[in-house]
Amino acid sequence: MTKVLVTGAGGFIGSHLVRHLKRLGYWVRGVDLKLPEFSPSAADEFLQRDLRDLRNSLEATRGIDEVYALAADMGGMGYISTHHAEILRNNALINIQTLEGSRLNGVRRYLYSSSACVYPEGLQTRTDVTPLREEQAYPAQPQDAYGWEKLITERLCIHYREDFGLETRIVRFHNIFGPFGTWQGGREKAPAALCRKVALAKLSGSHEIEIWGDGEQTRSFCYIDDCVTGIYKLMRSDHADPLNLGQDRMVTINELADMVASAAGVKLKKRHIPGPQGVRGRNSDNSRLRQVLGWEPRVSLEEGLAKTYAWIEGEARKVQRSSSLEASLTTFKRIRQIGNGNGNGKSARDDTRNWSVQKL
Ligand code: NAD
Repeated sequence: MTKVLVTGAGGFIGSHLVRHLKRLGYWVRGVDLKLPEFSPSAADEFLQRDLRDLRNSLEATRGIDEVYALAADMGGMGYISTHHAEILRNNALINIQTLEGSRLNGVRRYLYSSSACVYPEGLQTRTDVTPLREEQAYPAQPQDAYGWEKLITERLCIHYREDFGLETRIVRFHNIFGPFGTWQGGREKAPAALCRKVALAKLSGSHEIEIWGDGEQTRSFCYIDDCVTGIYKLMRSDHADPLNLGQDRMVTINELADMVASAAGVKLKKRHIPGPQGVRGRNSDNSRLRQVLGWEPRVSLEEGLAKTYAWIEGEARKVQRSSSLEASLTTFKRIRQIGNGNGNGKSARDDTRNWSVQKL
C-alpha cells in the first residue's frame, strides 16, 4: 500500500485532503503543529510536530512514498500583510526542512502547495484583470513576503527534481474555500470572514456588515472538493511545472457578500471601511489546467457558498450558545455571592438583566 504524508493535516485543505486520500485507499500520516479544530483527523497516524526542525521532518517522512506539502504559516489579507518576517522565516524553514527530510528518506513524489500570490503585483492593478497564466510569474514581483517565499520554494522544488530526482509537483491555489476552515480569529480568508459577518448580523438582528475597501476588488473562488480532486490529479500526472488550480469566474467582494447574504436568506447593507485589500484584481487562466489534467473545477460558487455558509452559521450558533451559557453561569455565581453577603451593592435583579448578553 502506498504510504503518503500530508503536512498541514490539521489545517483546512490538509484535513480535507486526508479524508480524500483515505477514501481512495491510501495509508495516510498527517503532521501539523495542531490537531484539526473542527473534526477528528481521518489519518491512520497523526504527529503533532514542528516542521521547521529537520529532526521532525525526518521523523514525519520516514517510510513515506509520497508527500503532500501543505503546512504553512498563513492567513487572509489581514494576516499576510502584517506578518512579513514571521511568514517568510517560518515558511522557508518548513519547506526547506520538509524537502530535505523527504530527499534523505527516499520519498518518490512531492507535491508543493504554492499560491496565486506568486504573480507580479503589476499585472493585478485593475478590477478587470486579465486571467493569470503560469509563465507570467516572471519577471518576479510577488505579493508580500508570503508570495516571495512561495516563489522561492517553487524554485527549490524544481532544483530538487533536477539535482536529486525527487518527482516534484507544484500547484498554485486561487482562493480555496469551504467548511471546516478558519472562520474567525484573524487568519480567516474573505469567503469565511464574509460568512461569519453575515451569520453574526443575522443572529444578532443587525442589518449591516463591514467590508474592507470599496468592495470592488475582484477574485475567483474555488470550492474545497474541487481543490482536493485537482491536487490528487496533479500528483498522479507527469506535469512538473507550476499549475494554477482555481475557478476562472471572477466576482467582486461586494458580489460575494451579496451571494453569502442570499445563502443566509437576509438582505444587508454594506458599510465600506479602510482595511487591507491585496491586489485590485486577480483571476486564474485555466487553459493549462484543462490541457494537463483534462479537468477543471466544477462546483459553482453559489453551491459552495451555500454549504460553507450553513457550516459557519452552525459554528457561530455554537459560540453564541456557549457565550450565553458562560454569561448565565457568571451571573448565577454573582447572585450567589450577593445572597451570601458578598455583593457589591448591585441588586441581583440588576445582574439578571445581563443574562441575555451574548458576546460573539
Ligand atoms: P491552514 O492554515 O488551514 O493550514 C496550514 C497548516 O499548517 C495549519 O494547520 C498550521 O498549523 C500548519 N503549520 C503551520 N506551521 C507549521 C509548522 N511549523 N509545522 C507543522 N505544521 C505547521 O491553511 P490552508 O488554507 O489549509 O492552506 C494549505 C496550503 O495551501 C498552505 O501552504 C497555503 O499557503 C496554501 N494556499 C492556500 C490557499 C487558500 O485559499 N486556502 C491559497 C493559496 C495557497
